[in-house]
Order: sequence, then structure tokens, then C-alpha cells
Amino acid sequence: MSVTLETEEHKALRAAVAALGRRYGREYFVRTVDEGRRPTELWSEAGKLGYLGVNLPEEYGGGGGGIAELAIVLEELGAAGCPLMMLVVSPAICGTVIARFGTEEQKRTWLPGLADGTRTMAFGITEPDAGSNSHRITTTARRDGDDWLLTGRKVFISGVDIADAVLIVGRTEDARTGRLKPCLFIVPPDAEGFQRRPIDMELHAAEKQFELVLDDVRLPADALVGGSPSHAPGGEDTGLLQLFAGLNPERIMTAAFAIGMGRYALARAVEYARERTVWKTPIGAHQAIAHPLAQAHIDLELARLMTQKAAHLYDAGDDMGAGEAANMAKYAAGEACARAVDQAVHTLGGNGLTREFGLASLVTAARVTRIAPVSREMILNYVSHQTLGLPKSY
Ligand SMILES: Cc1cc2nc3c(=O)[nH]c(=O)nc-3n(C[C@H](O)[C@H](O)[C@H](O)COP(=O)(O)OP(=O)(O)OC[C@H]3O[C@@H](n4cnc5c(N)ncnc54)[C@H](O)[C@@H]3O)c2cc1C
Repeated sequence: MSVTLETEEHKALRAAVAALGRRYGREYFVRTVDEGRRPTELWSEAGKLGYLGVNLPEEYGGGGGGIAELAIVLEELGAAGCPLMMLVVSPAICGTVIARFGTEEQKRTWLPGLADGTRTMAFGITEPDAGSNSHRITTTARRDGDDWLLTGRKVFISGVDIADAVLIVGRTEDARTGRLKPCLFIVPPDAEGFQRRPIDMELHAAEKQFELVLDDVRLPADALVGGSPSHAPGGEDTGLLQLFAGLNPERIMTAAFAIGMGRYALARAVEYARERTVWKTPIGAHQAIAHPLAQAHIDLELARLMTQKAAHLYDAGDDMGAGEAANMAKYAAGEACARAVDQAVHTLGGNGLTREFGLASLVTAARVTRIAPVSREMILNYVSHQTLGLPKSY
């Protein structure tokens, strides 16, 4: 009997998703990007099979699992060359926030569609003048009768063109400055005063990034997640809890995205190194090629272990414990992915830079996992201050 860390259910899920990923494969995925369209067929099939909403509650059409299961889905699709990045945003961030903090009506409206993939949500927190410093965001909501008027700017928001709504992080007028007391709004992208402009990214990916301008976008009272302002005087700051509920899954899922991509690149490099012969043995026999690939494999496995730990803590309800582990997992996975991709490209020599072999475009994609949703430096800051108790420079 073999003993593993994963349950039989998790292993079965991994195998089933991997088989789905292989059926579509990298060629399919690259073709859809080249044609300027989305991998709709794969997204729909994964939705029908219950993979996209595996983390969402059963009573709203989900699979009743957790982020551990959704991370398996994303990693395995990525390892097959089909990374569905919107999984990070739509079911993981937005689905989790609505499932945990939404009103009954918000849950009924959004969760079944997010679970089966017929509806998609984007998530917008980053602002041009705030960047890594989310405490500086200035997107502001003010009351107008029962309605809200939302004004602000966002940048690098993924998938707005395909989203049925964007979950926008703002603050209310009476909490405009100081420590962030966020409030989260469900904003339809066709609302009056909501403009989007695609950002020209050097990325070969199905999802586009957008700059958003919200100019007095009128929203009904029930656009606010949870239905009422999150920080009534003396009341609990539920807006911050809502935000953290989404950010831990975001980091765990970005780690899974990175590990999947790293595994895909490493597998291509290993195949190549076994065959390619320019002296008397295949290049994979040279330790200068073999050892960095072995290191990349070890680093990806280690990152997966921390990702599993973070998902386990999060799914068990330990938001604080999950915070540290989710940050460390995202850091480890981003670094492992960037190194694995770099080594994979190098292993293929000149072919590493051809479109035919398709690895070069992963170099920029891998860098994303070091920058978003929180950069490696901000994670190192977090661990320096929160874990090690070192003083802050900012
Ligand atoms: C492909 C892609 C998709 C994205 N999708 C989304 C999305 O869907 N929704 C969303 O809200 N955002 C999204 N983002 C934004 C992403 O979360 C931000 O880019 C990220 O948080 C970093 O912010 P910034 O780009 O403003 O960098 P900055 O904050 O300007 O940082 C620039 C550099 O300075 C470093 N730095 C900053 N502060 C410190 C410090 N105190 N100590 C040490 N170093 C520091 C950073 O680590 C970084 O290297 C996406 C970004 C990319 C690239």
C-alpha cells in the first residue's frame, strides 16, 4: 500500500482533471490565444464537470469542497498546458467572498453561475497611485439616497471584457483616508460611467488586463457585498474580513497556477533533454543540464507542499494561520516557477526561443507570478514583520 499526503478523492480529482487537460492540450490553448479568443470549450466542459466551482457550497451549485480542491484543478490544467487564470479570480476570490459574506440574494444570483462557469467575475483592487500599498486606494463610494455612487481608477484588472461583473474594492466617503476600511461592490461592466481600456501587455494569455475608470457609477444598495456598510461606528470591520477572505485564496491559487506552469515547462525540457544529442550522450546526461532540472523539480514539489498546507489551514477556517502559509506558498511557487521556466528555455538552446516549441512566452507569464497579486518583496516584508518581528522601513 502506498502512503501519500493526498486523500483518495484528491488523487482521483487530480487524475481526472489532468486527463481533461491532456484532451485539450497545449496546442488547443495556444491556438485559442492566437485566434484572440478564449478557451471557451475547455472552460465550459470544466464547468459542466463541476471543476470550476468545486470550492463553492453545494446548496448554490458548487462541489462543497475547498480551495485545496480548486488549487488541484488549476495546477493540473496548468501542468497540461491549459492554465485557466480566471479560476484565481472568479470562483476563488469572488466566489469565496460572496459565499462567505454575501446576502442570500447575492449568493443565489451569483454562485450557481460562477460554479458552472456560465458567469464570470473579475476582481479589482489595484490602483495606479496605490500599487502594492492597498491602504492608499482612493476609489470612493458615496451615498445618494439608497444608491451608491462609485468613483475611482483601477489598473491591471484581468478579464473585465469577459466578466459579468467586477468585484471592486473601494472605501466609503467617511473612511476615505487612513487605514483601509474597505467595502466591496459588485459592479456590472456596462454600468453608466464605467470605462475600460485594455493595457498592451507582453503576455501570451487568454486573459487581458484593463485600466478602469469609474465616474460616479450608480449602484443600487444591494451592490454592496453583505448589503450594509462594513464599518458602522463601533461595529465590526467586516469589509476587511471580506477582503482577507478573498486574498488568501488568491495567493493559494496563484501558487497553484505557478506550480502548474512550472511543471509544464519542466516536462517539456525533460523530454527534450532525454532525446537531444550533440556529443555522444543526450544532453540530459550532462549534470549542468540535469541538476538544474532536478532542482526545479524539488523546488516545485516544496512549493506544492506549502500550498497544500495553506489550503488546508484556510479550508479548516484558520484565516490567520492561512495568511502566513498562503504568502509563503505564493512566494515559493513564484520563485520555483520562474526558475523552472528559465531553465526549461535554456535546456532547449535556440529552440527554447522559437514559437514552435512555445516555451519563450512562458518567461513573461512566469514573471507575473512573482509580481501579482502581491510581489515577492511584499511577501518578504510580511514575513520580516509578521513572522520575524523585524522593524518596518515604510
Ligand atoms: C498579469 C497581471 C494581472 C493582474 N490582475 C489583477 C487583477 O485581476 N486585479 C487586481 O486588482 N490587480 C491585478 N494585477 C495587479 C497586481 O496585483 C499588481 O501589479 C501588484 O500588486 C504590484 O503592484 P504594482 O504593479 O503597482 O507595483 P508597485 O507597487 O509599484 O511595485 C513596484 C516594485 O516595487 C516593489 N516594492 C513596492 N513597495 C515595496 C516595499 N515596501 N518594499 C520593497 N519593495 C517594494 C515591488 O515589490 C515591485 O517590485 C495584475 C497584475 C498583472 C501583472
